[in-house]
Amino acid sequence: MRRIAIFTLIELLVVIAIIAILAAMLLPALASSRASAQASNCRGNLKSLALCQMMYASDHNNNLTAPSRNSTPWTTILASGKYLPQNQKNFGIENLDLVTCPGSRDLQNVINTGNYAHTYGFHQGPSQHGAGWTYTVEGFAKGPTNSKNPGDPTAAIILGDSIRTNVTPQVAFYCILCKDFSSQAYGVYLTHGNMGNVAMLDGHVESLNQEQFNNWAWHPMHSVKR
Ligand SMILES: [Zn+2]
Repeated sequence: MRRIAIFTLIELLVVIAIIAILAAMLLPALASSRASAQASNCRGNLKSLALCQMMYASDHNNNLTAPSRNSTPWTTILASGKYLPQNQKNFGIENLDLVTCPGSRDLQNVINTGNYAHTYGFHQGPSQHGAGWTYTVEGFAKGPTNSKNPGDPTAAIILGDSIRTNVTPQVAFYCILCKDFSSQAYGVYLTHGNMGNVAMLDGHVESLNQEQFNNWAWHPMHSVKR
């Protein structure tokens, strides 16, 4: 009698099990490559935004935008001056991808609740700084730099992944802060595998972990993993 070649149920189950095992091995690799692509995309955004700040400063007596001025957030200031593509919507920001960390999922929530449309924070300095302060390039180099390299513009953080922790739900904020001993309300968001991305005064970008942020002066940066 002619035998028809066909999979038995056992053989079929073995094949399915092998496929399942292969998929389980592949998925973490896919997830980690997605995360590293997001971190790399974020670093590119921060580098572009740091260069926009440098161009703004060179046209404004060496003053950076500050976190905000008269309630206008720094990205809107850059867009108003045509340092970023301008739009009438979203607080003047045309290219939301450029001002949004792909590791941050809450831009729409930011737009709904804040008066800004970005997920990166401008480094405010110590908590007593803020409204009315002038952020000069020279001042930044003397200020929030790595304690190992005081005065070094390559260690002076100007922008970074941001998070505000005293609201529910927590959302990105328009500034990041050196450690605020009273409230610790906002800081660098460690969104890239326990690392947060920051742009320095010289325009280069670094990914730092909590321990590295703790070495930053004047005070350790306040950083948060949600
Ligand atoms: Zn990021």
